[in-house]
Amino acid sequence: MKIHEHQGKEILRQYDVAVPRGGVAFSVDEAAKIARGLGSWPVVVKAQIHAGGRGKGGGVKLAKSEAEVRDVAGKILGMNLVTHQTGPQGKKVQRLLVEEGIDIARELYAGIVLDRAVSKNTFMVSTEGGMEIEKVAAETPEKIVKAAIDPLTGFQPFQARKLAFALGLTGDAFKSGVKFLTALYKAYEAIDGSLAEINPLVVTKDGKVMALDAKINFDDNALFRHKDLVEMRDLTEEEPAEVEASKYDLNYIKLDGKVGCMVNGAGLAMATMDIIKLHGGEPANFLDVGGAASAETVENGFRIILQDPNVKAVLINIFGGIVRCDRVAGGVIEAIQKVKANLPVVVRLEGTNADIAAKMLEESPLKFIIAKDLADAAKKAVAAV
Ligand code: GDP
Ligand code: MN
Repeated sequence: MKIHEHQGKEILRQYDVAVPRGGVAFSVDEAAKIARGLGSWPVVVKAQIHAGGRGKGGGVKLAKSEAEVRDVAGKILGMNLVTHQTGPQGKKVQRLLVEEGIDIARELYAGIVLDRAVSKNTFMVSTEGGMEIEKVAAETPEKIVKAAIDPLTGFQPFQARKLAFALGLTGDAFKSGVKFLTALYKAYEAIDGSLAEINPLVVTKDGKVMALDAKINFDDNALFRHKDLVEMRDLTEEEPAEVEASKYDLNYIKLDGKVGCMVNGAGLAMATMDIIKLHGGEPANFLDVGGAASAETVENGFRIILQDPNVKAVLINIFGGIVRCDRVAGGVIEAIQKVKANLPVVVRLEGTNADIAAKMLEESPLKFIIAKDLADAAKKAVAAV
């Protein structure tokens, strides 16, 4: 799960991670009120969307007076913000973060993420803050310094010092930096984060280290123990089809291809996507309807797949283990009649009662393309597209 920058900063503040003072605004009036309340100028008005690169895209502006706050807030609120992370269609800005302007001496980078290769959380810092860290990693990887954190001993003081040295911090800024990194790690652990990225991490003119930006993601598998964090979810920022799928406990991820996939079991769904690619096609989605798919699940899955206008053919690949194939076939026939789909539907059903299912599909008034095995199904789906 992702959250907005202002929410990330609210969380960090609770863990004594230094962040600028500020508040969230949903209207120009609210933005002006927050700016007045901060009691100092300039203030920064920042578009809140679940994507980075807002600065370059025109979503971060300094304002030196209330009139300027009203002017820039009016322009940013409601704008369609396009950044390298939103894709060309952009994202509509529905809320703003208004915070005190910070006098920046240096822009640095700090990030924590799980490094699966070493099975440890990894703290990364770089002096190359404020720019795309992906670019730094690709072109000058030596400028990223890492510390892997042992889950048993936790983040050690010597590691915090090593990272602060690597950032070139000295004197008060060094002390402030060590405190900052330690508090950030503590927060990341406590909230079951999957990413905490501070870019830029800044050193102010008076030697303080603070988070000017905050990108926090959560490990979805741990959300059950963070009811307060789940409330921060902003559904308007998420893919509508994925939100709908989550209501029915369907695991759906939208992709860019043309072959819609309905599969039971995540492993089989991955294999289906692989074999579509092997035969020259591209999957339009990942969809695991679960091991015990009912006629209803199949229908919901179908509707969600067809919401994607890129889908030109559907491949249904079900292994009837717990669920019987004839039940699935019934669900498929019903679903297609209900959603009035008239695109090619390739079906591969294998397992319990597969023969009855094949007969049902053949005898139905709908024109299914029946596949005899997985490779055959993939070839037929790619050909149908
Ligand atoms: P992003 O572009 O979406 O990553 O948004 P950021 O929060 O990183 O802001 C982009 C840039 O705006 C930063 O790298 C800073 O250079 C600038 N910026 C943001 N807040 C302030 C501030 O308080 N003072 C100054 N001088 N610059 C700021
Ligand atoms: Mn940033």
